[in-house]
Amino acid sequence: MSVSHSQRRPMVAGNWKLHLRTAEGCELASGLVGEVGSLAEVDVVLAPVFTVLGAVAEAVQGSRIRVAAQDVYWESKGAFTGEVGADHLIDVGCKLVIVGHSERRQYFAEQDADVSRKAQAALNQELTPIICVGESLEIRQLGHEIAFVVGQVRAALAGLSKEHLRKVVLAYEPIWAIGTGKTASPADAQTMHQAIRFAVAEAHGQDIANGMRILYGGSVKAENAADLMAQPDVDGALVGGASLNLESFAAIVRAAC
Ligand code: PEP
Repeated sequence: MSVSHSQRRPMVAGNWKLHLRTAEGCELASGLVGEVGSLAEVDVVLAPVFTVLGAVAEAVQGSRIRVAAQDVYWESKGAFTGEVGADHLIDVGCKLVIVGHSERRQYFAEQDADVSRKAQAALNQELTPIICVGESLEIRQLGHEIAFVVGQVRAALAGLSKEHLRKVVLAYEPIWAIGTGKTASPADAQTMHQAIRFAVAEAHGQDIANGMRILYGGSVKAENAADLMAQPDVDGALVGGASLNLESFAAIVRAAC
């Protein structure tokens, strides 16, 4: 029921997690500007630590590379010590934000309702959310992975307007594949991505579903990226470890073209 991913521009996003300080981040970003910063066929996104965002946004200025935060709080101002709101992210040059990464769900007790509020807050400020979903190994072993992931998607998108839904990017990241070196097979990734797109179509219409980019994440490397992204419902990659290296991340970006 899905249209070819050639109708959706692929996106390759690097999640730097808690790595790279300002000088290292800017060096990597500048290198990527030279390697892939003018490719028109793919949206390249870098997600540094909060304190490094502004400097990396400056380093990629004039290129097609965009900068994302790794999290956002749903309030814009007030007595919320330690939090960072969407308009502060815009202020330092962010265009996107990762929301609901499994590490935030796992270590910081983020719930589906929090993810939904964060996505809404981002969209209200014209930040594009990359909303992460994915099942644990236990859930997959029980054979409940599709119901679980589709439930996360429904909860995250509930209540968003059509206009906002058109901007959303989803990332399917099976938890058992993140940072483990284990990757979903291209066929397993496609099965899940197709199920997600079907659920989005059911809830929000085929048109929205056809336009929504669904990235795959979980031990994506230069060696497996092309096969994963060749699947009709896999519209790019969210990359952790391999995004910290210029050559490997640039190779993944090129594999999306
Ligand atoms: C991630 O953190 O989103 C991720 C997919 O990590 P890795 O590529 O290292 O598995």
